[in-house]
Amino acid sequence: MNSENQKYLVASLNERNKVIAKLKSNIFSIKIDELVKKAIDAFEAEIPAVTCHRCNKQAVITSKSMDYPIPFNEECHNIVLHNFPRGYCKYCEKDILELRTMAALEELIKFEVLYNLKYEKELPKELDFKKLIVMSSEE
Ligand SMILES: [Zn+2]
Repeated sequence: MNSENQKYLVASLNERNKVIAKLKSNIFSIKIDELVKKAIDAFEAEIPAVTCHRCNKQAVITSKSMDYPIPFNEECHNIVLHNFPRGYCKYCEKDILELRTMAALEELIKFEVLYNLKYEKELPKELDFKKLIVMSSEE
């Protein structure tokens, strides 16, 4: 993947919505990129119900702290991840972790780990998902 692919995230908007985005960014004098970041940061919704893949029963949504092991220097470094919302099956006593979500989470945690390594800091022992997922605090 080249740097061009990494920079752009394409959203499909119709002509009217494009005009609204331009107008709103002009009125508030912010770049569209900044407007998108702020909109994503501000987005809140109820997490849809999930069904357990094992027993087919409805799972509950939990944000309880969880262990997140990462391989590091041929060993395993554990990060305690706080506030990560996910399904939990009370009957199977297991988290329900969706593959694409976990792949994206892994990528996000990798940024954190690489940042710490770059600045020769210790690897994080704990991460708060609520802080991790904020876009507009960067730069
Ligand atoms: Zn289950």
